[in-house]
Amino acid sequence: MFEKVQSSHQKLKVIDYTHFLSNENFVIFLFHGVISINKSKIRNYINKHLEVSRFERIIEELRTKGRPVSLDQIIRAKNEKLELPPKSYAVTFDDGFANNLHLAAPILKRYSTPATFYITTGFIQNNHGSWTDLIEYAVEKVDSVQLNHELLSKNSPIRSVKEKIDFLDKVRMVIKYNSNIDPYEFAKLIWKQNGVKNFDKDPELDQKLTSQEVRELSDEPLFTVGGHSHTHRILSFLPPDELEKEVSTSINLLNDWTNRKINHYSYPEGLNHCFSKFVIDCLKKHEIKCCPTAENGSNNQKTDLFHLKRIFVN
Ligand SMILES: [Zn+2]
Repeated sequence: MFEKVQSSHQKLKVIDYTHFLSNENFVIFLFHGVISINKSKIRNYINKHLEVSRFERIIEELRTKGRPVSLDQIIRAKNEKLELPPKSYAVTFDDGFANNLHLAAPILKRYSTPATFYITTGFIQNNHGSWTDLIEYAVEKVDSVQLNHELLSKNSPIRSVKEKIDFLDKVRMVIKYNSNIDPYEFAKLIWKQNGVKNFDKDPELDQKLTSQEVRELSDEPLFTVGGHSHTHRILSFLPPDELEKEVSTSINLLNDWTNRKINHYSYPEGLNHCFSKFVIDCLKKHEIKCCPTAENGSNNQKTDLFHLKRIFVN
């Protein structure tokens, strides 16, 4: 069944996630957050936070037509060469937003749907925003966006919603494909050049889980907690010592908070160039067993557990 959805930037989209279910392949859905209502024009323009009614409809439809499995079941099937049931799918969340526990978890429990929550531990420790959230916040806040940077300078007005969204798309590309740009320094530059000083956090878009809440998710038998770096920097861009620090810090904190051995992870940004053999070897050294990407697509029994694809739900 198809549904019509009014997205945050008023494009009419027709999406039915159950059509990704198949008898031959399994799919892993990638969520970020669930909010009660979408009020922003600029922030959340990629719809990474779904409105709760829509989230429930998606989870219900998938549950009706498919077979939810945990990431541990996927690992077991791979290692023991077992077939997953037809129309298997897994649900995953990246980053560690508090709305995962408060809005998504009750719905997942209602529909007996296992889920894995990949947590960026630095966000939990300090309730920090990711670089994308910090940049989107600044662009929403000011009337006219200023930017002077060697790789991306403002050469036409950035005032309307469309101009601001086009600008954010360009900023994302520049940061994601340039290993010499520190994303948080770039966010700081945008804030400075536009006179933005305070981060007035939105309770739903910005509140991260606390360490006790991470423990609460981890204690629920349906749910699994995994790592998603410490600062959400692109792992393949980091020198070896910084990579080691990102991975070990995140895993040690999660082991401590959950009182469990963490063996799940997902790559920040997760595009093909955002991980490498070197990154995978580092994760394996820390006893990570499985790390899905954010590359779009489905998987089969041959797919390597460190190259699993996901379907971004927005
Ligand atoms: Zn992420």
